[in-house]
Amino acid sequence: MKLIHTISETRNQVLRARLRGWKIGLVPTMGALHDGHMSLVRRAKAECEFVVVSIFVNPTQFGPGEDFDKYPRTLVEDVEKCRISDVDVVFTPSASEMYPEGFNSWVEVKGYLTETLEGEFRPGHFRGVTTVCAKLFNIVQPTCAYFGQKDYQQLKVVQKMVNDLSMPLEIVPCEIVREPDGLAMSSRNSYLSPEERKAAVVLSRALSKARAAVTEGERNAAAVQEIAEGVIRLEPLASIDYVALRDAETLQPIDRIRKPAVLLLAVRIGKTRLIDNAFIPTN
Ligand code: AMP
Repeated sequence: MKLIHTISETRNQVLRARLRGWKIGLVPTMGALHDGHMSLVRRAKAECEFVVVSIFVNPTQFGPGEDFDKYPRTLVEDVEKCRISDVDVVFTPSASEMYPEGFNSWVEVKGYLTETLEGEFRPGHFRGVTTVCAKLFNIVQPTCAYFGQKDYQQLKVVQKMVNDLSMPLEIVPCEIVREPDGLAMSSRNSYLSPEERKAAVVLSRALSKARAAVTEGERNAAAVQEIAEGVIRLEPLASIDYVALRDAETLQPIDRIRKPAVLLLAVRIGKTRLIDNAFIPTN
């Protein structure tokens, strides 16, 4: 496994693999790797002969007052996890390698998909995400890039960018990995105090209860949302940013569940903002 900090050396390494006709897999991350990230790596390893994991806490996707400075950085442990998983290249650029002096080009998906939900609560967030992903795709030129459904809206935004700009790669969505009690794994879970950690299970519990209601025949979107909200409101440490049942493709609001939908949550547990979601099939 090679640990590389520069764009040029990453390009050199990937070029050698590409000349051998190998499939190239890219797993973009911000580090503090947990088993959610590693499930993406395992999928990439299963499908590609050469796997690159990028570790970059991307400053342009954090707004003012967000947690860029305190975001967990555990590079030594991350590199060890990648080595054990037989990753070929870990690409950990500095901010100045990715955004040198004078950098002034942005890739932005416009419209509802980036204005709603996370886009509303975190203005500019998706512009940072799409710009860094476009850059990583250009550097690595992967056959496939692996994204978690944990960040469902991000996955849809990146898929849209790739389709709109005819980028020559496949985006592979991967299942959400959860702790035994249901909490979706997240690097931000490390911010939670023991008491908050217990309270945080309310997100997945709300999703399960809402999904169970749909399984039992509930089709009214407001009613399904209300079930999830009711569960979260019972937890004193939780405050809701949004609970939204949306069309699974467009993320537009729906009145009734007729097509595949997704229930998306953003909830603050104390000062920590967590997101989670559940796919709601029609049958
Ligand atoms: P991050 O480091 O938070 O930017 O996440 C990097 C990638 O890992 C993104 O595609 C996330 O959606 C994915 N990811 C994060 N947490 C999980 C999880 N619990 N299950 C599956 N994928 C995840």
